[in-house]
Amino acid sequence: MEAEDVRREVRAWLEANWNPDLSLVEWRNKLADSGWGAPTWPERWHGRALPVALGDVVSEEIERIGAVGPPTGSGMTLVAPTLLEHGSDELKGRLLRPILTGEHTWCQLFSEPGSGSDLAGLTTRAELDSGTDEYVVNGQKLWSTSAHHAMFGMLLARTNWDVPKHRGITYFALEMHQPGVVVRPLRQMNGYASFNEVFLNGARVHRLNVIGEVGNGWTVALATLAHERRMFDAIQARGRSPKGKGRAIDENRAEIADLMEPYKWYPQRAGRVDLVMERAKATGKIKDPVIRQEIAKLLIMSKAAEWTARRARAAQEQGKPQGPEGSLGKLVSSNVARQAARVHTYITGADALLTGEDSPMNGVIAEILVSVPATSIAGGTDEIQRNIISERVLKMPKEHSVDTNKPFKDVPRNIAASS
Ligand SMILES: Cc1cc2nc3c(=O)[nH]c(=O)nc-3n(C[C@H](O)[C@H](O)[C@H](O)COP(=O)(O)OP(=O)(O)OC[C@H]3O[C@@H](n4cnc5c(N)ncnc54)[C@H](O)[C@@H]3O)c2cc1C
Repeated sequence: MEAEDVRREVRAWLEANWNPDLSLVEWRNKLADSGWGAPTWPERWHGRALPVALGDVVSEEIERIGAVGPPTGSGMTLVAPTLLEHGSDELKGRLLRPILTGEHTWCQLFSEPGSGSDLAGLTTRAELDSGTDEYVVNGQKLWSTSAHHAMFGMLLARTNWDVPKHRGITYFALEMHQPGVVVRPLRQMNGYASFNEVFLNGARVHRLNVIGEVGNGWTVALATLAHERRMFDAIQARGRSPKGKGRAIDENRAEIADLMEPYKWYPQRAGRVDLVMERAKATGKIKDPVIRQEIAKLLIMSKAAEWTARRARAAQEQGKPQGPEGSLGKLVSSNVARQAARVHTYITGADALLTGEDSPMNGVIAEILVSVPATSIAGGTDEIQRNIISERVLKMPKEHSVDTNKPFKDVPRNIAASS
């Protein structure tokens, strides 16, 4: 199918069907029935099996007519692709549609106090309760963005301690609203509370909620992580509701306000390169040759990163295998954010530390300074990205590992060392 055929067909459908007076769920159910809500998903699962580039044409038309589109967030961007790749038909049948209608929201329960970079070393345990079809889960998760809103969690837990660490992990769809799950918000240094610690104390999950095979959770987790970067792009691109009036639009506005609340500071975390020229001109610092050089360096880095990302996307749309751009992009975004924070500090001077109404840009500059460090941690730290680039792209020798081949129960861990 050509782009113009898709455009014509979706446009005609939207003109005949978009009705802002429906409830959000009623409208999204219509989208799901038509296949236009998730055009890149298979036809059997509410989609039209279109390639990514044609999916973008559908989004453009939804935006053009001012209709509400599918939800943005980890359900659509992380969970759905993982389910489509690894989930059983029973799970796809049960979980995909409420993700598409926005009725189910999700969070990611991967990181733990002792396992972030070394995610495969996680120690949350899930044990099958004998005589039942349920696993009992005990452990603690950390940094869990949006866990305070979520109805389901993508949970990684250890189900086998007698095999090496990567082979004993299982991936579950965990219901969050149950007595064994306690979610506590964590306050960050920029004042927001986007993430949580999640205590799992006798939480229960049915064996039908295993995504992939028991013990194969690491492979499934890699599928989720491969989509993580696209999630931030999607949130930035689609985290706004259409203008206009109507029940579906109002409910979408409320949904987006909830969804975006943990991500409010994400533009500041990326360094706000967009503000640099405006600030340099407004403060007169544009005339300072040293600051001008730093600005030029920032804009060159930022443009090169943007074009590299576009090249990667163009290759992906043509069905070419992923090149080194994916691994480089994450590291480059940290460098851009850090340089942007430096340039904002040169421009604003000591006042960059001020917050409150009479501070530079109502405290936005200060917020940049205390949010940028998250860029080099979230979704894999800079050091881990460098390891990936050196091992997988440059084919340098692998980092020495002492724990990948022995049964996980025999691997020394901090808890054992301190007791
Ligand atoms: C904004 C944000 C949102 C997040 N959202 C989520 C979420 O929703 N769900 C979730 O599960 N997690 C989430 N995380 C957690 C994130 O994935 C982890 O913080 C990250 O993987 C790093 O793990 P850690 O914090 O345990 O640091 P550690 O792994 O303890 O690392 C500490 C330091 O040691 C370095 N280091 C570790 N191993 C190596 C190595 N092999 N070689 C060289 N250096 C090394 C690291 O680079 C780092 O500097 C989020 C984090 C942030 C900042």
